[in-house]
Amino acid sequence: MDVDTRHWIGGRRVANADTFEDVSPLDGEVIAVVSRGGTAEVDAAVAAAKDAFVGWSRTSPAERAELLRRVAAGIEARIEDLAQVETRDNGSLLRSHRRGVMPRVAMNIRFFADHLSSLVHSDFDTRGHRNHVTWDPAGVTAIVTPWNAPLMLATWRIGPALAAGNTVVAKPPEWAPLTASLFADIAHEAGLPAGVFNVVQGLGNEAGAPLVAHPDVRRICFTGSVPTSIKVGESAARNVTPVSFELGGKSPLLVFDDADLDLAVDLAVEQFDNSGQVCLAAVRMLVQDGIYDEFRARFLERAATLVQGDSRDEGVDLGPLVSKSHFERVDGFVKRAVAGGAEVILGGGPNDELNVATGGFYYRPTVFEGVDRTMEITCQEVFGPVLTLQGFSTEDDGIAMANDTDYGLAATIVTGSQERAERVASAVRAGTVWVNCFFVRDLSAPFGGSGRSGIGREGGTWSFDFYCDVKNSVFAPKGWN
Ligand code: NAD
Repeated sequence: MDVDTRHWIGGRRVANADTFEDVSPLDGEVIAVVSRGGTAEVDAAVAAAKDAFVGWSRTSPAERAELLRRVAAGIEARIEDLAQVETRDNGSLLRSHRRGVMPRVAMNIRFFADHLSSLVHSDFDTRGHRNHVTWDPAGVTAIVTPWNAPLMLATWRIGPALAAGNTVVAKPPEWAPLTASLFADIAHEAGLPAGVFNVVQGLGNEAGAPLVAHPDVRRICFTGSVPTSIKVGESAARNVTPVSFELGGKSPLLVFDDADLDLAVDLAVEQFDNSGQVCLAAVRMLVQDGIYDEFRARFLERAATLVQGDSRDEGVDLGPLVSKSHFERVDGFVKRAVAGGAEVILGGGPNDELNVATGGFYYRPTVFEGVDRTMEITCQEVFGPVLTLQGFSTEDDGIAMANDTDYGLAATIVTGSQERAERVASAVRAGTVWVNCFFVRDLSAPFGGSGRSGIGREGGTWSFDFYCDVKNSVFAPKGWN
């Protein structure tokens, strides 16, 4: 289907003479030629958002909620289009997009529209004075997102930002820029006023950098890698602009010897979802000694049955990596791990047969054993279908190994003991802990990372804390006419 690849600024399409090519990882074909924005387009988009903020910030929460519900309905009506375009663009599974991701995209908008009605704080008294707390809109919000779940991650910020009364300039990922453009069409058709939502397409250093450095931007929401976050943080600091950072991870899967092994194996195999291109993936499998051998055998048996292929086929479990350069980056990690003495017990390289047949960027599910804490493969985020397997003896050893990382996005614990689950959940450093489950996400729950996995929490009221300027007005009991 046709997607408009120009920017969306102030309620109209704006083209650039400069463009970049958008390549599908399914087959290496160029699927779109996209406008390549820079400072001029960013300035125009921020100016449009600043103008639109005057009116949008004055609409009542009920009016905003009504409009955003229309946007959510527009998304629901186009789930199939969005799913098809996203799969072609970033290579993630079509069935996941159809059944999970795109319905969640609509929910990202609807949930925060609905949540507005619960954003009230009771007035309270200080020596006869009335304290009145309000969530005031903050202003122009920059939303910069990565390619692994482009529209889902963007709308998870666009929803609360718009609901709060802010206006938005979004910079989609250059490796998967298309669904942001479809979202602009849907929001426009739903009646969102011109300038309330804007898209500047382009590369990170050309379009993202001027956006996060812009002095009229009042909030920066960045999802991406740690190295980029450091640059974004430096720009934000110059303008004292508040940031929300959702960054990488190196999360543990802690399997104790009292665990249900079927469940543990299911959860371990799930870590190959989206070809491992998931920030939350529990890529460090830590398994207690008493069940290590049995877990290893059963996990490898199951992982060997995963089907890799075209992400549009129902029976496929793993698609490609998002781009040629990311494929090479993942391969570099694997090669260096092998050179450093890690032992490959599954996969260990590209799926050459599939790559030759399709022209795509497929990498085989890979598992390493014989690794230790000093190796790059156990410390750095690979962001591909690459897991490590290590044993541990006592509960304290397991906790220490789980926490032996600079990151702290998530941790998954598998155990049959509720007491142990409570102890370990409280001892691991992570923004989200899952016990005997994985990826259960509620939009009202706080979400974010500890350590180098991020700054801040979003979800429910936490999102409004970030996107709003929370104000306390104190009214004296006297002085009224
Ligand atoms: P990235 O940091 O390279 O890019 C992210 C976005 O930032 C892109 O839109 C890019 O164009 C833009 N960008 C690049 N340089 C910029 C600059 N100087 N100024 C402003 N913007 C700039 O990350 P990526 O490779 O696209 O995504 C993968 C990373 O995202 C992984 O580390 C992954 O863990 C992380 N991630 C985190 C979460 C989370 O919720 N914690 C979710 C998904 C992905």
